[in-house]
Amino acid sequence: MKLNELTISELRRFLDNREIKPQEVVDDIYKRVDGVEDNVRSFITITKKEAYEMAADAEQAILENKGSLLTGIPVAVKDNMCTKDILTTCASKILHNFKPPYESTVTTRLKEQGYILTGKTNLDEFAMGSSTENSGFHITRNPWDLDCVPGGSSGGSAAAVAADECVAALGSDTGGSIRQPAAFCGVVGLKPTYGRVSRYGLVAFASSLDQIGPITKNVSDAAIMLNVIAGHDPLDSTSAPINVPDFAQALGQEIKGLKIGIPKEYFIEGIDREVEDFVRLAIKKLESLGAIPIEVSLPHTGYAVATYYILATSEASSNLARYDGVKYGLRANGKDLLDMYMQTRSEGFGAEVKRRIMLGTYALSSGYYDAYYKKGQQVRTLIKQDFDNVFNDVDVIVTPTSPTPAFRVGEKAADPLQMYLSDIFTISVNLAGIPAISIPCGFTKDNLPMGLQIMGRHFDEESIFKTAYAYEQSTEWHLRRPSL
Ligand code: GLN
Repeated sequence: MKLNELTISELRRFLDNREIKPQEVVDDIYKRVDGVEDNVRSFITITKKEAYEMAADAEQAILENKGSLLTGIPVAVKDNMCTKDILTTCASKILHNFKPPYESTVTTRLKEQGYILTGKTNLDEFAMGSSTENSGFHITRNPWDLDCVPGGSSGGSAAAVAADECVAALGSDTGGSIRQPAAFCGVVGLKPTYGRVSRYGLVAFASSLDQIGPITKNVSDAAIMLNVIAGHDPLDSTSAPINVPDFAQALGQEIKGLKIGIPKEYFIEGIDREVEDFVRLAIKKLESLGAIPIEVSLPHTGYAVATYYILATSEASSNLARYDGVKYGLRANGKDLLDMYMQTRSEGFGAEVKRRIMLGTYALSSGYYDAYYKKGQQVRTLIKQDFDNVFNDVDVIVTPTSPTPAFRVGEKAADPLQMYLSDIFTISVNLAGIPAISIPCGFTKDNLPMGLQIMGRHFDEESIFKTAYAYEQSTEWHLRRPSL
């Protein structure tokens, strides 16, 4: 038995019964990392030393019968979440040497539950991208086909889970960055409701859209992870002061009579044939389990990508103003202060980040603000109202996660617009602030995984879990593993 291949709940049982030790789990994790990391390159920083220290603590806790949800479980964390004294780069040269003086709330909560940090995973620089090719350091490859991208921006986290280099991972999702890489890598990825999980210590990209969530091997592990990280945090005023249910309770509930909305705007020209076929089969499967599919309309879907790229870049241009060579990270030489700022930002940021700062600064500039940013906010409201209307009639909405399976490395890198369009099915969820999951729903002829997206009402992750679990338990897609 290779322990790195097990799920959180399987490991929990073995660990609590003292059949295995946390150190043995960590041994198997790093054996695997040593074996595949040269090809996959999921990580920016591998935290082996810390992992063994945390494993020793976990062993102690288990011996004292003080084990909790994640005691002894190796989890990888996207490198845009602050880990005290451990490099946190956002895959940007501008933060190449940044060791945060504080810990993010999510990793604090993982720690309180006894987790083991495997490493910090690769991403598109500052989470801007859909392929992990925009990393300032190296690209990550898809464990199912090393010529393909793992998706992005949480491509390192998704690849690490798919390749069994960790048991679970955290990602962040601003426009699809948890769900799309989960779909491309054949694993489960959940973007919780905006406000469900604290963003304290998540390096901000677009603050009104960013949300942290789990990437896991199955649906019940996602529920465990969300149980750990969800809940109000006084350090993040946008985290919601509302009750957190036990999400594991939703698993195994019947979906008989559940109304599932199928939005016609998500089955459009340009969507890959195999993706459409498998998603339609998945809907049939849900129907056979008792759910009632209902065709619905989200009429403003066509404006989502444009709206997102105005709002997200505007927020990014403001959030990224702090990287000036004075406070953090890289400082380039300059003949005076202004020149130092300019040199630092020119050398430190990659092309995509610069493109977005320029777009966002333009959209916010006086004279254009009303035409772009204000208009974008108005359309965002319309998109949210679309969902409010549909959720009057249905319990969840089911769509493909991405219009295509994983594309090839380099295929879209030179064409930002094509890259932006690959988020067409995930972005509206962030604009509306609702939760959504991606779960595996099939494989292409070329053996690439595809994802089914299930969206829910604000703070109704339970209906999502219930639907996702029912589907997962009646299929075997989640049991497949890439051969690396
Ligand atoms: N791919 C989208 C973008 O490039 C979403 C990224 C994300 O969710 N962080 O902005």
